[in-house]
Amino acid sequence: RPMIEARGLSKFYGQFAAVRDVSFSVPVGQVCAFLGPNGAGKSTTMKMLTGYLAPTEGSAFLAGHCMETDRLAAAPLLGYLPENGPLYLEMTPESMLRFAGQTRGMVASLLQSRLEYVANRCSLTSVWRKPISKLSKGYRQRVGMAQALLHDPQVLILDEPTSGLDPNQTHDVRELILSLAKTKTILLSTHILTEVTAVCSHVVLINEGRLVFNGSLSEMVANA
Ligand code: ADP
Ligand code: ADP
Repeated sequence: RPMIEARGLSKFYGQFAAVRDVSFSVPVGQVCAFLGPNGAGKSTTMKMLTGYLAPTEGSAFLAGHCMETDRLAAAPLLGYLPENGPLYLEMTPESMLRFAGQTRGMVASLLQSRLEYVANRCSLTSVWRKPISKLSKGYRQRVGMAQALLHDPQVLILDEPTSGLDPNQTHDVRELILSLAKTKTILLSTHILTEVTAVCSHVVLINEGRLVFNGSLSEMVANA
């Protein structure tokens, strides 16, 4: 049974199809790149996969749970890095992540140890008590990663985790994803293939809302 499954997903905004009949699945333990140019429909698809956006047609499943009808069962399994970064700019990484953990119902002792873990793992200790509004794009992206990792989910859906980062920050985030890849199922969007060749064995390519390739990285490179 796949860990992540898009089954005939479409999203229409009026007459415009942002995503049209997209189907693919990611098996347990796989790291899959979700590739396509800006505007291809990657974020829209990911929002449907995470249950943040209701599909116009089709269904999204996480470990067999339908994201429209069974989202609560899927929530503990899923960590999501949304495209736009943290929303609560007046909070600090510490206060925002504590709030996120409390919202998830994590017990205090577990939450405290997970906060320490993600602060270290995502290299946030130096900015832990600074307002997010004062942090660079690279730090904000890592606050988003820390939130996605906080409850130790099995599945990560990461929307352009390296977008807007400088080469050093990109390297750090890539190393983090590489080490997470050993134990987790990951779907990771990007518009730059070379960003993910070291991490991903499998590629799903979309363009203008339609799936155009679904296969191994080596097949894709051979066909290019
Ligand atoms: P990507 O993540 O690949 O850059 P998106 O999923 O963000 O692409 O967007 C796909 C298309 O859908 C784009 O043309 C975008 O402008 C359009 N779109 C996204 N959200 C909305 C919305 N809320 N209303 C209308 N059009 C939208
Ligand atoms: P809604 O506006 O649809 O109610 P919320 O933002 O309140 O969604 O979040 C609903 C659930 O999703 C909560 O359990 C929350 O902790 C979780 N959640 C929110 N953001 C993330 C994220 N970046 N990664 C993982 N889970 C998240």
